[in-house]
Amino acid sequence: MSEPELSAGELGHLARCVQLAGEALEAGHAPFGSVLVSGAGEVLAEDHNRTGDGDPTAHPEIALARWAAAHLTVDERAAATVFTSGEHCAMCAAAHAWVGLGRIVYATSTAQLLRWRAEDGVAPGPVQPLPIHTIAPRVTVEGPVAQFTAPMRALHARHSGR
Ligand SMILES: [Zn+2]
Repeated sequence: MSEPELSAGELGHLARCVQLAGEALEAGHAPFGSVLVSGAGEVLAEDHNRTGDGDPTAHPEIALARWAAAHLTVDERAAATVFTSGEHCAMCAAAHAWVGLGRIVYATSTAQLLRWRAEDGVAPGPVQPLPIHTIAPRVTVEGPVAQFTAPMRALHARHSGR
């Protein structure tokens, strides 16, 4: 897969996602972070994983989809982009598509995460690790972006206790 061509601003949004993933890990959650950006490039909302509080569905991508459903018009949702540290899981990809959000840009892919978890001896999760396009075929998806591989690998290694 070729590296997506992203602007400095878009790379900045991905860097913020990685920072949020680090904040999640520090707070006892899994290392994932996401940012919702309007069609005009304005940051509308951001969140990080909160599964450490006991709700395994507390992923940032579904939280942002629900925020968008509550706060944005249909057109605003379609024009918005979700930047995220790791490719959406099946649950979050479905929420993204149901809410009618626009493009997704991810720093690291589900395929990378699966490889890292296997390397770290982490058991597979209970949900099929399907790519976004299998769940949401009409969403424009870009990623992974190589410069974020090393920092995200390090966060996941720490999360796995390595
Ligand atoms: Zn998810």
